[in-house]
Amino acid sequence: MKTYFRANLQFMRPIQDAFPLLQTPKKIFIITHHKPDGDAIGSMLGLSYFLKKMGHEVAAIEPSEMPEFLTWMPGVDGVLNYEEKPLLCEAAFNEAALIFCLDFNDPSRTKYLTQQLEQTTTPKIIIDHHLFPKECWDYGMINSAKSSTSEMVYDFINLMGKNEMIDNNIATCLYTGLMTDTGSFRFSCTTDETHLMAADLKRKGLNHSIIHEHINDSWSLKRMQFLGYVLLEKMEIFPKEHAGLIALSKQDLKTFGMNINETEGLVNQPLCIKGVKFATLITERTDEVRLSFRSKGDYDVNAFARKYFNGGGHLNASGGKSNSSFLETVTYFKQILSEIHPR
Ligand code: 5GP
Ligand code: MN
Repeated sequence: MKTYFRANLQFMRPIQDAFPLLQTPKKIFIITHHKPDGDAIGSMLGLSYFLKKMGHEVAAIEPSEMPEFLTWMPGVDGVLNYEEKPLLCEAAFNEAALIFCLDFNDPSRTKYLTQQLEQTTTPKIIIDHHLFPKECWDYGMINSAKSSTSEMVYDFINLMGKNEMIDNNIATCLYTGLMTDTGSFRFSCTTDETHLMAADLKRKGLNHSIIHEHINDSWSLKRMQFLGYVLLEKMEIFPKEHAGLIALSKQDLKTFGMNINETEGLVNQPLCIKGVKFATLITERTDEVRLSFRSKGDYDVNAFARKYFNGGGHLNASGGKSNSSFLETVTYFKQILSEIHPR
């Protein structure tokens, strides 16, 4: 039996209470988290299309550039990158009558709009599936038992009684978030509701196989060769701890001409090995060292990320950071690992 952490959501009103605000055309600001993934961009674009169809004017903001494997998505040309156009993004924020925050639960995950989000008097609606939300939202849906924010945007559209408005663009965007956050319907966050949503999108004409091709079969040869190198030379397995580690320095990436987005998914590789329940990817960045954690079963990587690496996320997928050097972080991680024993 899986344990879910039910947040106490008394600090905000249910999303239905915000429906009257959506009855007349408004300027709406939508933002997702820094270093957006498939669910972040998928849920944001899906919601943007839906709100525009309802007659609203929408500004969709990504705090930093989306990874290459998502640039085929419908609507990406309309997304504003804060790092490229900070003034335009700030103007859109100030003009907005309503704010949607998607796929994160703490304003600091936007990196650049932390204070603005905390201090604004404009109503803020959150739709998110991460654990331990910051209590600063006016309306929303927060449910850590949900597979993805994209599934929750679908629920939101249904709650509004607007299922028939889901067209091919909305279906494509929401399916992209659904499939990426569930590891193509493999991870334990996948539920009957997840499959029912996929079935409904399919009925609406979704071409799912082309999306899988865009996401999974768009690697460059050098990226595939880099994966070979990483698996052979960089992956360490710790059988006693049921753990696997991949640690990549800036030099490792440079040697293969890889950018950091091309390390996406590597963290899952150790989990393909029988007996491994806990996988970690450590990457050296320009300004910090990032850590990604994945687990199987009830080993809580959210708690691990919070306790040791100032991070968070979900029970089976989380992330964190370290301000120590890359080598010190790797040594520290191994030291912690020898002190814990994931079942
Ligand atoms: P990833 O390993 O793909 O970067 O992140 C895995 C999950 O953990 C994502 O849901 C992401 O939002 C969350 N996450 C990643 N880094 C952090 C962090 O520094 N703080 C928090 N609270 N969550 C994070
Ligand atoms: Mn997500």
